[in-house]
Formats: sequence, structure tokens, C-alpha cells
Amino acid sequence: MKRPSLNTQILIGCLLGVAGGLWLSQSGQTSEPIGQNTLYGAKLLGNLFLDLLRMILVPLVFSSIVVGVANLRAHAQMHRVWTTTLAFFFATMGIAIVIGFGAAHLFRPGEGLHLDMFAEATRNYQARQMPLPDYIAQFLRGLFQNPFKALAQGEILAIVIIALFLGIALVAGGERYRNIRVLIEELQELCLRIVGWIMYLAPLGLAGLLLQLVATQDSQLLLSLGHFILIVTGTTLFHGLVVLPGILWAFTGMSPLRFLKGAREALITAFITSSSAATLPVTLRCTEQHLHVKKDIANFVVPLGATVNMDGTALYEAAAALFVARLAGIELDLASQLVIFFVAMLGAIGAPGIPSVGMLSMVLVLQSVGLPTEAIAILLPIDRLLDTTRTAVNVEGDMVGSLIVQKLTAGKA
Ligand code: ASP
Repeated sequence: MKRPSLNTQILIGCLLGVAGGLWLSQSGQTSEPIGQNTLYGAKLLGNLFLDLLRMILVPLVFSSIVVGVANLRAHAQMHRVWTTTLAFFFATMGIAIVIGFGAAHLFRPGEGLHLDMFAEATRNYQARQMPLPDYIAQFLRGLFQNPFKALAQGEILAIVIIALFLGIALVAGGERYRNIRVLIEELQELCLRIVGWIMYLAPLGLAGLLLQLVATQDSQLLLSLGHFILIVTGTTLFHGLVVLPGILWAFTGMSPLRFLKGAREALITAFITSSSAATLPVTLRCTEQHLHVKKDIANFVVPLGATVNMDGTALYEAAAALFVARLAGIELDLASQLVIFFVAMLGAIGAPGIPSVGMLSMVLVLQSVGLPTEAIAILLPIDRLLDTTRTAVNVEGDMVGSLIVQKLTAGKA
């Protein structure tokens, strides 16, 4: 019998994960030995898959960016790729924030609720305060680091910067450094080959992660915040299924279905792992091998986007800020909303692509307009759930970006 394709296997794994998780939570088995053992097995498999992705992440990001930049040999083209990429990142994050605001105004989540109703959750919660200037200073200091420290500790943004420098130096040095360029190019090919092997574990690993996720949700809490969850998820999906594919179609003529088909491995992995960084190896593989973006463009846009471009996070922070304002009974004026716009964008840019990190910059957003930061205690328990669609859309933005940058810079060296 012919073996089903990897995508079909992933789909079956996801269905089994959801079914197993629902069975465990509905039948109250999570505290019984059978439930505990199933959760233990699911955790082992899920973590194994995540660890394998993280294992390959650092050499892959490093080599991809160096190769990407070094291949943009003509300076003029390099300049165009840079500017188009950043313009795309800022524009789409801006659109996402406006959509987040729009949804919060239109559907008014939080109406009828009040912060006092969550006194139990917020009483003992002390959000870590960080004034905006400190946040900016910390972000800038994180950019330039000892390369060995950054590589050893997996600091993606710092690795991106080091790789950019090295790539530019290789371009400037020209033929003299051809051997190093070829060596790093081959390192990248080897990393992608290993990613291909890791993907064989994706169906089981994703099933394990999904089972845990579904089995450990607190249904009571989900119900009380159901309206907010529905609005945030619905709007994030709107951005991911209508706005981004629409922009892609307008610029490149690629149909949304064709795009989603090529991108689905990465989207599913991002949804389930809630980490753009851990998904990065899969994103690169999809962008190059399924969406056929040229190596030099994909290698530059995708790793940079994984840490900088986060539409889902930006949208969430804007919508959640208005939600908290409503809970606290505060009407935000236009000036405060503008502040939220910029801080949410900054927060999304500064957030590394790991699970629930958007919550940290959320504190910053609330603080910036004087909203109560202890409201984070209400958002935290539902964050793992919201982080799923948010991360998938974050990753989608990077793939859409690489396709658009490729189109807009083609042949304009
Ligand atoms: N989990 C998100 C990501 O990895 C970041 C966030 O928490 O918003 O893209």
C-alpha cells in the first residue's frame, strides 16, 4: 500500500491529537493513571519534535542569512530587497493593528464584564513593570552581541544581525572569499536536509503537542472569556485568510489556495508549537521548496521576519488593550490609541518568536497608556490558546512577504 503523503499524515496526527485531548478532558481521565500516562507519552513525543527543530535552528538561521545576503551580490538589489522587506513588515503590522482596533470597537468584547469580577485572578499577580525607554534600551542592547554567546544561547535576533554583517562582508570581499561562501552554502543545504528528516516525526510530534493543549484547557475560564477569545481568533483568522492572501494576490497574482497549499506544513507547525522560532526550519523549507521563492530572497526575508514581523501579535496587543480598557471602565481617546498603535508595533518587533512572549510586551502596551497591568492575570490563562492562531499568522506573514519581495525586486538589480 502506498504510504500517505506527509501532509495527510500530519492531518491525521492532528485529528488524533484533538480527539485524544477531548476524550481525556471530557471523561475526566486527566488525573487517572491512564490519562497521566497518555499525557506523559504525548509530552515526550511533542518535546522530542520541538527539541529536534530547535537543534537545527541556530546553524540553519545563521547559514541561511549569510547565504541570502551574500547572494544578493549587486548592491542595488540588496538595497531594494532591504527596503521592500521592511516596508512590507511595517505596512502589514500596521494593517493588523488597525484591524485589531476595528474589531474591538465593533464587537466590544469586555462589555458587561468588570475587572472586579476577576479579583481572584488579579489579586496576587504582580506584572513585571518595564518603562518604555528601558524596553527600547534593552531591545537595542540585545541586537549586538558576542557571536559565540548569541549562537550558544540561541539569541535569534542577535544571530540575524551577525549573519547580516558576515553576509555583507562576503559581498564586499567578492571572489576572494568564495570558499567561505560555498562552505556556508553547503552548511545550509545540509541543515535543510536534516529538517526533511525531522519532518518525518512531525505527525506524531504535532499530535502529542495538540493532545496536551486540548486536554489541559480550563473550560470554565474559556467560557467566561468566550466572547473575547472568539473575536480575537476570528479577527486573526480574517487577517490570515483574507487580508494577507488578498495582498499576496494583488501583488503577485498567486491564488490563496495555491499559497495555503504550499505553506500548510509551516502554518500547522506554527499553530501547534506557538513558536515562530521553532517553526523557522519548516517555514524556510516551505518557502523554498513548496512556494519556490529564490534562496537569496527566502533566506533573507524569512529568518528576519520570524523575529521582527508579527502581524498576529500586533493585532492581538491592540485588541487586548481595548478589551482591558473596557474591563477597567476606561474610555481611551484617539491619542491613547495612537500610543497603543506604536507600542504594539514595537512590542511585536521586539518579541522573540517563542510561546506567549507577546504577553511580556502586552505589559508594556498596557503601561504605556496607564491601563492596569494586573489584567495580564486574566489574559495569561487563555494565552496558550490564542497564541496558536497568532503564531500561525505571524509565520504566514513571513512567507507572504518573501513572495512579494521576490516579485517586486525581480530583475531590478
Ligand atoms: N508565540 C508568538 C510567536 O512565536 C509570539 C507571541 O507570543 O505573540 O510568533
